[in-house]
Amino acid sequence: MLDSYGRNINYLRLSLTERCQLRCSYCSKSDGKQCLKDRELDKDSLIFAAEIFGGLGFDKIRLTGGEPLLRRDILKIVSGIKKLDVYKDIAITTNGVMLFDLAEELKKAGLDRVNISLDSLDNETYKAVTGSSLDKTLYGIEKAIGTFKKVKLNVVIIKGVNDASTESFISFARENPVDVRFIELMPLGNSGVGVKNDEILRSYSFLKPCKTESFSEPARYYTSDGFLGRVGFISPMSAKFCKFCNRMRLTSDGKLRLCLGNNDEISIAEELKAKNGDRAKEIIISAISKKPKEGFEKDFITKRKMNRIGG
Ligand code: SAM
Repeated sequence: MLDSYGRNINYLRLSLTERCQLRCSYCSKSDGKQCLKDRELDKDSLIFAAEIFGGLGFDKIRLTGGEPLLRRDILKIVSGIKKLDVYKDIAITTNGVMLFDLAEELKKAGLDRVNISLDSLDNETYKAVTGSSLDKTLYGIEKAIGTFKKVKLNVVIIKGVNDASTESFISFARENPVDVRFIELMPLGNSGVGVKNDEILRSYSFLKPCKTESFSEPARYYTSDGFLGRVGFISPMSAKFCKFCNRMRLTSDGKLRLCLGNNDEISIAEELKAKNGDRAKEIIISAISKKPKEGFEKDFITKRKMNRIGG
């Protein structure tokens, strides 16, 4: 579906929960507004939402949160979406903590791709960012590499916290068939000072740009001789890519979030619960027409932290 600026909106980011076991300061450190479990859309409403978006021409979907693997019905959600047969592939973004145990079953249920968040390869630094230890996530990453055709790591670099970790991530991309992506810190959590991606890239002049595959892919990729993987840079703050935006987010309590960097939300929770597809469709079409041209205007303050939106 085209929005008012001619962008083809075909990518649904479906948040399954606001809950997460980790407490990353830039994402979820408590604002006292954690979604109670009973406000989360149930499995059938989530699958129904995916069906409606599919009927509007959406063919990309990512399950996110909060931590999507905390949903006990995650396998049923994935297989229910798979059965719709409308999405080219089904992807998930996870902190990886539960992935070692779930990867194979997720694949069997129909999951195609996994992005794993990892802000340091050093246990103490990882703990400083997340409040948790690293070992389970590392096992999860190893398992994912052996299970899925494509694994990407998401890294958010914060000054004075994990900015010494970039070199180990570049080495990780050299030695492993993964895309390591540096995502610039967005003002969607507690304070912290991000690092511009250009600053990181400048330190690794041996990295050479890869051919751009698609403009709706926000990462710009680089690689070098002998690398098994690639290094990606996602720069929503220093090089906005809003004109290529193709996304609509649905929060786990049933609100359409039109843009990460804009507080406008429109609820379709009641329509999803009542299985009123026609009305839900009308609201989604109207929401797409209201997508702002750009996000993160000067002085933007988010009303929801990232874990409550769905990253
Ligand atoms: N729990 C899952 C995880 O850890 O990947 C999925 C949800 S998390 C909100 C999704 C992604 O958003 C993560 O890669 C995280 O690093 C990123 N993220 C969260 N807050 C962010 C912020 N303020 N700026 C940039 N990226 C952020």
